[in-house]
Amino acid sequence: MEHYDGGCTCRYVRYRMTSRPLFVHCCHCRWCQRETGSAFVLNAMIEADRVELLEGDVEVVDTPSNSGKGQKISRCPRCRIAVWSNYAGGGDAVRFVRVGTLDEPDRLPPEVHIFTQSKQPWVILPPDTPAFEEYYKAAEIWPAQSLERRAVLLAKARN
Ligand SMILES: [Zn+2]
Ligand SMILES: [Zn+2]
Repeated sequence: MEHYDGGCTCRYVRYRMTSRPLFVHCCHCRWCQRETGSAFVLNAMIEADRVELLEGDVEVVDTPSNSGKGQKISRCPRCRIAVWSNYAGGGDAVRFVRVGTLDEPDRLPPEVHIFTQSKQPWVILPPDTPAFEEYYKAAEIWPAQSLERRAVLLAKARN
């Protein structure tokens, strides 16, 4: 099975995504700009049970979010690098893995650009990747396989 390994900067935390993610977001919102100290964040959305902690552990930090409902950011307890987060919407079942913490981040380029209304003006988006001023509907742009995986998650959440 295709997998993706990553970890923090001090190498205490090592993790593995055991399959391709559901979808890869590039978020240009002000909140992500502030959290990364950069122009955008790259998040690979994936089922929590497809992320294995290989070494170390994470410290979960409750952090305010744009929705007002907060997000939980999982960080290395030593070097404090954020490796993934959970948002209120997807709950604990979906992780947003920080693509920049993968050993080979080049393997997961963004599949959508969101909150482009606050995109840094010097960031030029590729014309063939979907882009939205705010958010979007998964049903409109996700591949069928990811939508099927999402349906499984939603069914689990209802039970
Ligand atoms: Zn670390
Ligand atoms: Zn954002």
